Amino acid sequence: MADLQAILDSIYADIQPRIGEGKVADYIPELAKVDPKQFGMAIVTVDGKVYRVGDADTAFSIQSISKVFMLTLALGKVGEGLWKRVGREPSGSAFNSIVQLEHESGIPRNPFINTGAIAVSDVVMAGHAPREAIGELLRFVRYLADDESITIDDKVARSETQTGYRNFALANFMRAYRNLDHPVDHVLGVYFHQCALSMSCEQLARAGLFLAARGSNPTTGHSVVSPKRARRINALMLTCGHYDGSGDFAYHVGLPGKSGVGGGIFAVAPGIASIAVWSPGLNKVGNSQLGAAALEMLAARTGWSVFGD
Ligand code: GLN
Repeated sequence: MADLQAILDSIYADIQPRIGEGKVADYIPELAKVDPKQFGMAIVTVDGKVYRVGDADTAFSIQSISKVFMLTLALGKVGEGLWKRVGREPSGSAFNSIVQLEHESGIPRNPFINTGAIAVSDVVMAGHAPREAIGELLRFVRYLADDESITIDDKVARSETQTGYRNFALANFMRAYRNLDHPVDHVLGVYFHQCALSMSCEQLARAGLFLAARGSNPTTGHSVVSPKRARRINALMLTCGHYDGSGDFAYHVGLPGKSGVGGGIFAVAPGIASIAVWSPGLNKVGNSQLGAAALEMLAARTGWSVFGD
């Protein structure tokens, strides 16, 4: 395998003059306070080697990247029945768009836009108090990363609860279509807390390694999902993981990936490695500008694109 540390160092050297590019998400007041001049990246290979550069140990708000973990839990609970509640098609619309919901009777396009993720959280809540559903997710992520120090940032969750008017609108709309079984404030309580998971690039790459390794984490020996399910989650990330920037991300990077408005991107090189990158400045569609640039460099320098080298 290529010298991954040398590649990461070369990416960092190329990114460094650009650090601070993009615009930090400010619709969640607590995220607006984050210093944009940060960049970190971590790779964990399927044989358990870890490579890091920059602020790879700094915890950040993973936001929508949490949707991958919640989706994994929901599929574990209800299996393919999940697809009665949410679709599997790219939306071509913004992550917080409401437009398609009315045309499609309250069934969100995919599990990675906000509406879809809210429906997925509702599924995971079945039979639980909201607090237990959040606890289940936190335990799951700690188990995946083999790291008990991972926490949820309550300040971020509270900040979004106070200002998440748009998500309240989306959830109310779905509830009107009977695509939410629980009260809107309970479902959003879970959703805002999952988005407020605070993790470093290294923790995130470790937690997602099962998706690069046919559903099992080779570093812990934990079998998480079947190879088929891992493949399918990767397919959803590739087609829907960057909202209306998914086509562009596939074109430039060519890896399944999931972004969050905290500036993180989690990506998978199937059979090879999991990758996490973080830089808070976002592009116009809400994906980390330098994170995507760094992943494009990584794919070019390693030949890891799923579409060939
Ligand atoms: N919590 C954010 C929201 O619901 C997540 C959005 C994102 O990361 N794209 O708006």
